[in-house]
Amino acid sequence: MTPEELDEVRKNKLALSMVKRDKHGKIVRKIYSEDTRKLIYLNAHGKCELCGRNILLEDMTIDHINPLSMGGEDDVENLACTCYPCNLFKGNILPDDFMERITEIFMYQTEKKGKISLKWKIVHRLLSSVR
Ligand SMILES: [Zn+2]
Repeated sequence: MTPEELDEVRKNKLALSMVKRDKHGKIVRKIYSEDTRKLIYLNAHGKCELCGRNILLEDMTIDHINPLSMGGEDDVENLACTCYPCNLFKGNILPDDFMERITEIFMYQTEKKGKISLKWKIVHRLLSSVR
């Protein structure tokens, strides 16, 4: 990173460091400037930081790594470039809980698929023994 880029990061960090709340105490979501969005996008090399897919800058959604609702900050270090489906899927959960969830889904689906293919193997064997 060049000193100018670093300066830009610091400026953005300062601008993002306060979490604003409305009169009901609800977190006011920030609308990020084009520069901030670009910075986050370039930092991620144009890839979704959750699934690794290449995405367009205009399709990027900004994810709070540690959700605002759980004390995460509106800070560039807490922001990740994500594709829409990943951001939607991750929702308001912590990164560790998200990983646990994905692992659970993966294991469950793999097991389900495994059972299906095992059933098919049995069916196949039965059918071929009839012939
Ligand atoms: Zn993704």
